[in-house]
Amino acid sequence: MQRLAILGSTGSIGRQTLDVVRAFPDRFEATTLTAASNWELLVRQAAEFRPDSVVIARRELYGRVAEALEGLDVKVYAGEEAIEQVVRGEAVDTVVNALVGYAGLAPTLSAVEAGRKLALANKESLVVAGELVMRRAMERGAPIIPVDSEHSAIFQSLVGERSPIEKLILTASGGPFLRASAEDMARATIDDALRHPRWSMGARITVDSATMLNKGFEVIEARWLFGVEARRIEVVVHPQSIVHSLVEFADSALKAQLGTPDMHLPIQYALTFPDRLPIAGEKFSFVDHPSLTFERPDLERFPLLEVAYDVLARGGNAACILNAAGETAVEAFLAGRISFPRITEVITEVLARATFIPNPTVDDYRQSNSEAKNIAGQLSGFTSAF
Ligand code: NAD
Ligand code: MG
Repeated sequence: MQRLAILGSTGSIGRQTLDVVRAFPDRFEATTLTAASNWELLVRQAAEFRPDSVVIARRELYGRVAEALEGLDVKVYAGEEAIEQVVRGEAVDTVVNALVGYAGLAPTLSAVEAGRKLALANKESLVVAGELVMRRAMERGAPIIPVDSEHSAIFQSLVGERSPIEKLILTASGGPFLRASAEDMARATIDDALRHPRWSMGARITVDSATMLNKGFEVIEARWLFGVEARRIEVVVHPQSIVHSLVEFADSALKAQLGTPDMHLPIQYALTFPDRLPIAGEKFSFVDHPSLTFERPDLERFPLLEVAYDVLARGGNAACILNAAGETAVEAFLAGRISFPRITEVITEVLARATFIPNPTVDDYRQSNSEAKNIAGQLSGFTSAF
């Protein structure tokens, strides 16, 4: 029995993780569930899965959760710090970090410090502080298994290999604006940006896919997860999202993992590795989909992809600034405060203005995150509700 702490259980990845638990009740047990504000769903999940504990991050909702779970043997905690605490709990084998944004970093560090196995969906942990997270994981012997589909594909392709990686090729669907003109993108509404052609995901990552900042984040994520220099990481647009990413070796061999896009697979694999268990659903058929295409990304319409490479070259807290600026700019866009192209402008401006720190500590990351969010907030006339 593998006991899971599922951080962000009410989100897109969190709910799909609970599907996996539901499918294999004799293998997985959800011992901790956490949510930011969707307390009703958290309560329903707790009633179904009977975890040891739940955490509601928004403190003001504590009373409602506690009242609704009265009579069930479930401990209720509130606040973001409580998430850091529960992942260290004795009753946890694996932490599934499905939080979105900077908020995922502290629980990632906490899980790694405690030596827990970490199934990591929260790519922002690695974008903000990848070097630190990987170093601590190595020191503590804590395995980190990627949930992001591209990184899971690479991870799967590396099983059994001991030769160095020559190149990583990350595939990108190109998002909803792959074929849109710059003028179309300037007029894009919130709904347009949220209409992803291949994946149904949380709002932030969906908008990040529309700017392709998400792919930039994934380059940074891959750099740290697999210890591969940025110059060896390439992005290729593959609109069908069947080839989930590739590894090239010295002998020119390419290995990839393919399949119908469905996050249940990378989530489940992160939990069962090195084993595989069945998943219901559509199997991919080459003859039904004979056309798999690949093209270079258009950096003129998607400049944030290149910004991610610049940020890696700068090092220090630059990627932390990028993430924070992106978090606030996307929030401002989703609140109707700024236009779609303004997201890119705000991010670029914050990167130019925020304090650069060459060798940041955890505290520096915290301050840098706040500073960059403040600047982004000023630039977009927006203050985060959180
Ligand atoms: P989501 O918005 O659907 O869910 C986020 C979860 O985190 C929710 O349960 C929410 O309550 C919780 N949360 C948000 N802010 C919080 C805070 N400040 N404190 C505590 N809890 C908080 O997001 P998602 O799409 O499930 O994505 C989760 C992570 O997985 C992201 O890092 C995303 O980039 C990554 N990811 C998602 C997908 C996908 O298909 N959804 C694919 C690849 C990677
Ligand atoms: Mg991905």
